[in-house]
Amino acid sequence: MDDRPIWEMSSGDWIQDDEQNRFFILNRESGEEGNQSGLDIIVGAKWHHDNKANCGGFFPPEFDHCPFCGCELAVGDHNSDIWVPPYGDGSGLRKVAGRIDMDAIPVRRERTRIWVDIDEQVFSLPRIHGDYEFIVAPLGTKSPVLVAFDRASGVVDYFSPAQKKWIPLAPSPARRVGTCELPNWSWSAAFLRGKAGFAVPTREGPVWLAIDWRQGTYAPESGQGDCIGGVATLQNQIFIPVLTDSSVTIQSFDFSAFKWKQVEDCKRDVLQDFSEAQRFSVPIGDEGRGVIYWIGKDGLITFDLPHSNCMWRPWETGAFPCRAVPELGPPYQDQIGNFWQICYNDHDDAFRYYKLNGNEGDREDVDGGCFSSGVSCFSKSYDLWDRPWAKLDTKRQDVAKMIRTPLLCLDEESKTSVTVGFASGSTLPLLDIIKDRENTYPAVLRIESPSDLPVELRMPKAFNIHTPWELRLFIYQDHLFVYSSEEAVCYRWRLK
Ligand SMILES: [Zn+2]
Repeated sequence: MDDRPIWEMSSGDWIQDDEQNRFFILNRESGEEGNQSGLDIIVGAKWHHDNKANCGGFFPPEFDHCPFCGCELAVGDHNSDIWVPPYGDGSGLRKVAGRIDMDAIPVRRERTRIWVDIDEQVFSLPRIHGDYEFIVAPLGTKSPVLVAFDRASGVVDYFSPAQKKWIPLAPSPARRVGTCELPNWSWSAAFLRGKAGFAVPTREGPVWLAIDWRQGTYAPESGQGDCIGGVATLQNQIFIPVLTDSSVTIQSFDFSAFKWKQVEDCKRDVLQDFSEAQRFSVPIGDEGRGVIYWIGKDGLITFDLPHSNCMWRPWETGAFPCRAVPELGPPYQDQIGNFWQICYNDHDDAFRYYKLNGNEGDREDVDGGCFSSGVSCFSKSYDLWDRPWAKLDTKRQDVAKMIRTPLLCLDEESKTSVTVGFASGSTLPLLDIIKDRENTYPAVLRIESPSDLPVELRMPKAFNIHTPWELRLFIYQDHLFVYSSEEAVCYRWRLK
């Protein structure tokens, strides 16, 4: 018979094991010992540093000292801003959830060179081979939890700062889902604050991965149809477009029934076959209007929640319509909040922007294509950051020697952004870079703004990649992480 004392506390019921000098948390429902890992994040447990005594592990957060040896227990600071993959704050633009202050970044200077050294502590991936997306959010945990989701296998791991390691969640009922063929510009995940789990598009339809932290397991709840775009959140709900019987519908996860339900049929004002090959972008959320946009090559889906309406419309209706280039980044948002999508027309070899909440007449012609973070737009010139359709003053423009792509805006006001310098010396047109899967190019990283000198993000070796946007970024506990799945490396730099 188990005669070990049990401490009933607000953080949970804890068993005191005097033989092992350990505490174990009980699952209140089953009365059994469940998952004992990552309790710093899950319930805010304190950590016992190694010392000569034989005690260690997690202790109830209500304790200040170890009852076995009397040493002080460590309190971790596990605060972190959220990170919604792939881009940051979950709006569909490439921007962080909380502003990063440039002055706080620990830079080093030597004459005109400014850089940030790479963090020396090795940050290992859950496994060498994987195609990871990283989520940072309070997914039903005491503190925001860093979760690695492997898009290739559906495996889910979470990180314990106290234990300094990844902990795998076990699939229950022993079934993994997650494999998904959506391209990088199309795949996105979503979570809702306080809900234990997150939603992803998969080959088996939209999936809510429900996490049971007490047991250390997760279970997939699948919907119907083929996922054709990323998952969005709007007004504390989750939405995703799916293809069923050649029509597009919007599905949402109903938490009271705990299943996916269809909320809207997508209407079309022009006949268009939605083939399986049709893909839509990471969703763009317009919280103010209550609207979500999914960008497709031929047209866009607009889901209007307040008016219960979903509509597909083409970019152009002429004989030679242009096509959107979502690979170049999210649509540019202007000063008054309108979004503009860059499109390309093969027929007259021209780029133009279309307003998402407008019609075919709301367009701006431009000289050339630009990369976009949604907050700023640029390829080689600073002049285009704020005005993507501005005419370039070739006398004064600051033209970089390499292609510069914005990966993440750290501060909207100063437009400070993490950029990747790519294909140095190359004269490849933008559209060729997108199509080119043969060559790889060295890619270096910087923090740039129009008003300051660029800050180099130093690393042992440049990334060697096909396209700039293959790099996946995330921010966790004041560090910037940059990950390449193809090269299976993840570097990090301190931002504070
Ligand atoms: Zn102790």
